[in-house]
Amino acid sequence: MLIDVKQITKAFKNDDSWLFPTYQQVLNGVSITIHEGECVGIVGESGSGKSTLGKVILGLEAADSGEVVLGAAIANLPTHRAISVVFQDYNTSVNPRLTIREIINEPLISEALTHQAREALLVNLLEEVGLDTEMLDRYPHQLSGGQLQRVCIARAVAPNPKFILLDEAVSSLDVSVQVQILDLLQKLKQERGISYLFITHDIAVASFLCDRLMFFKGGEIVECVDDMRNLKTVSDPYTKELLEAAGYLEIPFETELNQA
Ligand code: ADP
Ligand code: MG
Repeated sequence: MLIDVKQITKAFKNDDSWLFPTYQQVLNGVSITIHEGECVGIVGESGSGKSTLGKVILGLEAADSGEVVLGAAIANLPTHRAISVVFQDYNTSVNPRLTIREIINEPLISEALTHQAREALLVNLLEEVGLDTEMLDRYPHQLSGGQLQRVCIARAVAPNPKFILLDEAVSSLDVSVQVQILDLLQKLKQERGISYLFITHDIAVASFLCDRLMFFKGGEIVECVDDMRNLKTVSDPYTKELLEAAGYLEIPFETELNQA
């Protein structure tokens, strides 16, 4: 086990009344176990609590109850070495005043490296994510969205993490660029054996990359698909709806014909 998420609950206070505030229950006892080298997808509609779950796992948001247990492989690493993150909005994920070199170097600042070793590492990282090394001296506004997301991925990979949390990491990109970034993530996963928790509203994207999927609704896991070949045989009505909308479940012509 790499990460064990146990029975997480989280509510946010509504700002309706300071005296008698009401609460919105965002996570309702979520449990997920992620093993080494696997890619787990969390799929659900907007507002279902996916990002909040991600923030709890990253320690950016405190859970009301439950716990996140890190496995032996990462428990003793400093947080930035254990868990990396890639967010949807690459523009706000980088400091616009830093060069690409400085951005990718951010998680490596505390590493004791010679100037040459550091430069070689940065050049390798840039090549690994499919960017030309001349980009090292550029600023974020001089890159396209897809290129900048590659930079964010290079930065996430830089400390050689065991686990990367990706929250809607390809959702802001054009479809053709999405495919390229998904291929890159697939390659990194195979070559480096990194585990992913891939959060998305897009079932097509999730089913391409993930080994198994968890469908999320109202802060709860409503369906788990452990084998992607069983994607079409889900039983939960909400999951069926999602799959139908994405064109995964065809209208059962045969059944209609048989009945006629
Ligand atoms: P998703 O990522 O699935 O779209 P989120 O986890 O971002 O969902 O949000 C779930 C719900 O929690 C939303 O209704 C959102 O408004 C609310 N929420 C998220 N973060 C906060 C916060 N810091 N304070 C108050 N409400 C929040
Ligand atoms: Mg979100």
